[in-house]
Amino acid sequence: MSRRLLIAGNWKLNRGPGAATELANGLKRALAGTTAVDIAVAPPFIAIPEVVQKLQHSGIEVGAQNLYWETSGAFTGELSGEMLRDAGCSFVLVGHSERRQLFGETNATVNRRLHAALSAGLAPMLCIGETLAERDAGQAQSIVWSQLEGGLAGVDNTSLERITLAYEPVWAIGTGRVATPAQAQEMHAAIRTWLLERFGAGAARTMRVLYGGSVKPANAAGLLSQQDIDGALVGGAALNAESFTGIVEAAADLS
Ligand code: PEP
Repeated sequence: MSRRLLIAGNWKLNRGPGAATELANGLKRALAGTTAVDIAVAPPFIAIPEVVQKLQHSGIEVGAQNLYWETSGAFTGELSGEMLRDAGCSFVLVGHSERRQLFGETNATVNRRLHAALSAGLAPMLCIGETLAERDAGQAQSIVWSQLEGGLAGVDNTSLERITLAYEPVWAIGTGRVATPAQAQEMHAAIRTWLLERFGAGAARTMRVLYGGSVKPANAAGLLSQQDIDGALVGGAALNAESFTGIVEAAADLS
């Protein structure tokens, strides 16, 4: 079964409402008529309403970079899945490595966020990936498998269909140091093996597993042509309509 490629942009802490509107306009223009691949962007919370409005009828999905697991109450500074849905989001990142490394996220809190997203009707994109020290210690696969085990705890096969995975080796995020297509493919194949053992053949066949970490127009085709890589989660290169479009076009050429 062929899985449709998905190119998703994570804008991180970049582009407030004004600049996000400009970027969304640029994407809408550049990507009009691109139907061969799925496209999504995750702006900062504060720019979500503008981006949702600008990307209406563009086919580009809008999501958030995080959510809190409670639905309402005395949780100053947090946002719920229901609020994000209400604002027009269809998906949400959970467990991005920057959340894990800088904001103390654990597999347990990532799992709570993932369930909150599912309950709110959002499609979670679960981010996983090892650090350089873990890779050098020969622990890359066991770290990723424990992130999968913890992040997907309590998820059944029906809910799993709404989840996307993003394998992002921490050493490749924002560093310009991209995993080679062979390195990425090796981990994606291992993730599919884990899915097979934990959720069965159907899940292993249909689950989309994106690669993330310094994806650019110049390296996109090499990565996206790998058998078990079903798209890209893009940080830096998603902040410019031209470079993001270059990655989408590389994906469309392979579809
Ligand atoms: C990311 O933050 O998800 C990411 C992949 O960033 P970059 O493309 O900049 O490495």
